[in-house]
Amino acid sequence: MKMKITSIPPELPCCELTAQRRRNLLMVAKEALRNAVQHAHATREAVRQRAHRRCEYCRFPEHVSNLPFHVEHIVASIHRPDNSLLNPAWACPRCNLKKGLNLSTIDDQTGQQVHLFNPRTMVWHNHFAVGNGCIEGITPCGRGTVRLLDMNAENRVAHRRKLIEQGTGQPVDAR
Ligand SMILES: [Zn+2]
Repeated sequence: MKMKITSIPPELPCCELTAQRRRNLLMVAKEALRNAVQHAHATREAVRQRAHRRCEYCRFPEHVSNLPFHVEHIVASIHRPDNSLLNPAWACPRCNLKKGLNLSTIDDQTGQQVHLFNPRTMVWHNHFAVGNGCIEGITPCGRGTVRLLDMNAENRVAHRRKLIEQGTGQPVDAR
């Protein structure tokens, strides 16, 4: 049987209070989002300034990078949620992506499981040294971190040598 539509069905009744409430909820959500974005931006800037705009793992300077640096979580939230400023580190994309969620690795020399370098609790020069553009791990932690983060990949070493030659010499002048 063919049905004939004779009129448009009326809309569902919409009470003013519900509409007002919807507007209020939207305003609250927008405000919360704005605050979250501002907080994230402030955190990112604080982490960046603390690191002197260099990767806290390989010491690569941000100003010569073609890619934006990341706020890296030293202990990923999957292990332990930590929103304090003690957890984030400023990292180049290479180090961040290689580190991933890892907290430890294996030291090739001893075969032992070792903690990765933690920029908040460890001093860079106590674990790494630089020679001819290569970063050398001088402790089990340093060696494991260099290997896992692939710090001496051919193109990274070449770039580092160039920076050192040009006098933009991180990581040799790292604090
Ligand atoms: Zn790096």
